[in-house]
Formats: sequence, structure tokens, C-alpha cells
Amino acid sequence: MTIPSIDDLDVAGRRALVRLDLNCPLRNGEVADDTRIRAALPTIQALRERGARLVLCSHLGRPKGRRVSALSLEPVAAQLAALLDCEIIFAHEPAGDDALYLSKDLGDGDVMVLENLRFDAGEKQNSPEFARRLAELGDVFVNDAFGALHRAHASVVGVVEHMDELGAGYLVLGELAALARVVDKPERPNVAILGGAKVSDKIGVIEALIQKVDTLLIGGAMAYTFLLAQGQTIGESLVEPAKLDLARKLMDRCRARDVQLLLPSDHVIADSPDGEPSVVREIPAGSKGFDIGPETVKAYSEAIATARTLFWNGPMGMFEVEAFSGGTRGVAEAVAAADGYTVVGGGDSAAALNAFGLGSRVSHLSTGGGASLELIEGRVLPGVDALARRS
Ligand code: AMP
Repeated sequence: MTIPSIDDLDVAGRRALVRLDLNCPLRNGEVADDTRIRAALPTIQALRERGARLVLCSHLGRPKGRRVSALSLEPVAAQLAALLDCEIIFAHEPAGDDALYLSKDLGDGDVMVLENLRFDAGEKQNSPEFARRLAELGDVFVNDAFGALHRAHASVVGVVEHMDELGAGYLVLGELAALARVVDKPERPNVAILGGAKVSDKIGVIEALIQKVDTLLIGGAMAYTFLLAQGQTIGESLVEPAKLDLARKLMDRCRARDVQLLLPSDHVIADSPDGEPSVVREIPAGSKGFDIGPETVKAYSEAIATARTLFWNGPMGMFEVEAFSGGTRGVAEAVAAADGYTVVGGGDSAAALNAFGLGSRVSHLSTGGGASLELIEGRVLPGVDALARRS
């Protein structure tokens, strides 16, 4: 699927409506982590240099179609102004007469930020009326919101119908290229690491990976459903009893396709997240597994070192608690040391990698968890589809 690029747009002296993913965590009314703002800078800077008049928009959190002052984009706009070292005009509504008036007053290189798109219920409903009002704010449209491409919302899909000139920004182009390298004809051996809380969240991803990888490493709480399905004792560890049959089927499919499936052989256990940790091979009754053990880290690291292509999503344990972070840290170090092409899908695994100071040591650190997983599943993202159809 080919999508138009920002490079092919004529933007000088024209208003560029730019959909970004500026969904940053806030603390005490300030941006706590500006990774997503920084990720949008190459597109913003290029458009400014080319004389565009920028109208930037994004969602932030889940205000459910109402104005929620704690979820205003104003602190994000302030942080962007600091990073760009320029003044930013803020429109106190996501789309409307005021925003339209302000957009028409912009000069070349000026930057305006719209209020949180999700303050209007029309955004998530992909309302044609909201999409039309948004579209009035730009002469051209740029989508650089990788983390929102899997959402069929007005600013991602609906708005596209109203724009004749449009293109994807640099973040979207880079993310799609990186994920394509993992999904389309990956260089082998191809290794995937999946972790996190639940099997049920990642069924589609596991099924898709079984078709593509040589080795699949499973960690985190979701490993216990597989271990229980094999008849192992897992104590009181998190498990999804309704997914035991599915786990058996997935293991059968790995065998049938000659996919090497590795499950944890030792565990860091405790009675509770603040209990005394110990390392065991068999989890006794009453204890819970909160992390993969050192023997498992060693086995997983050896498999990771063989990879020419690698994809990782989800922590290996309750990494937020220091005593149970060793497995995720060990795997992160092995991924950072690997020579192959390594992609880490957003969310917790990206946060963990950054917390260990290893974010720059992988080939690609994705900014969008949900969007990257849907690409791995082989789905066509609504935002990509919309751009491709209009090009
Ligand atoms: P997910 O959102 O599915 O990627 O899951 C991430 C969450 O899973 C993190 O908050 C981890 O603390 C949690 N998690 C991972 N392994 C375990 C485990 N063994 N027991 C309890 N929680 C876990």
C-alpha cells in the first residue's frame, strides 16, 4: 500500500492541518514525559522551514466528548513552544469559528495548537460534521499521528474525505517502514518476544507471529497460562483459565510449524508484590510468579543473540517493582546487544527500555503500542487506508 508523503506537498504560505499524537502523560499540570512531542518535531520543523502555516491537533487521554480541564492540551502546547523556541497560538476549542478565524490569521511558519480533539464527541464517533469543521482549518492535511492510526476517528479518517492534498509525516513514514521490515519478508532467524499481563490481549499477535517467526519467547504473567496448560504448577500466579484451551492450540500450532516456543523455566516469586522474593523452578502453592528467573533470562538472551530480525512487546514481569524488574532488564540488555534489526513496540516495553537507558540501542523504538501490534497482526490501519485511498 503506497501512501503520499509530506515531501510531495506544496505547503508554502498555506495552512497545514497536522494530526499528531501528543498524548503525553501529565503530572501536576505539566508534561511528565515529552517523548511524543519530540517525536513530532521533524515534521513540524520541516513544515515551518518550508513556509507552512501550522494548525496542529491531537487527542489527550479520555475526556469522553466533554471539556475536562485536566486534559487540556495547553501544557503540551507550552512544552512544544519551549522545544521550538517560538510563540504558539492556542485555540481553546478543537474546531470551531474561533479556531477558523485564528487559522486564517497565521503567517508563514506560525504554529497554532487546537484544544484536545476528544473534547468534542464527534472525534471518536468519526462524525462527518466534526470532520468537515476540522478540514476547514487546513488547505493541506498531514497525518503524523502513528499512535492513532489504528483509530477510525474524525481527525484520522473522516477529515481525509475533505482534503485534496494530503500526506503522511516523517514519524508515520519511519514507523511504517520499521514495522514493514519485521512483517514483510523478515531476515531470518526471526525472533519475537511477548510479555505483559494477559494472553487474551495478544491472541491475534501470537497467531500472526507463529506464521512468521523461528523462535517465540513468552514471559510476563501471560506465560503462566501456557505453563498451566502444560500441566506445570504455577501457585497463585495470574492466569486466565478461560484461555487454557487456546494456549494448548497455540502450542500445537508452534510444533506444527516448527516454531521454537520458549517458556520460563525459573521464576522470581513472592507472596505479594511487596513480599520477600525468591527464585524457584517450581512455584509452590500460595506463591505468585512476578518475574522470569535468571536461568530463563540466560536462555532467552541466547535466543535473542541469534536474531537477524527481532520484535519485542510487553515486560517479562512486574518490572515497575525493583525486585521483579531483573527479567525485563536482562531481556532489554540482550536486545540492545543483538546485531540484528530490533524493533520494540510501544507502551511498557518502550518505557522499560528507556528507564534502563537502552532506548537508543535498538534499531527502532515504536511510539505506538496499539498501532504497532495491529501492524504485526497484518491488519490495515484505518489511518493508512484513508491516506492510501485518497492518494
Ligand atoms: P501489558 O499491558 O499487557 O503489556 O501488561 C503490562 C503489565 O503486566 C505491567 O504493568 C506488569 O506489571 C504486568 N505484569 C507482567 N508480568 C506480571 C506478573 N508475572 N505478575 C503480575 N503482573 C505482571
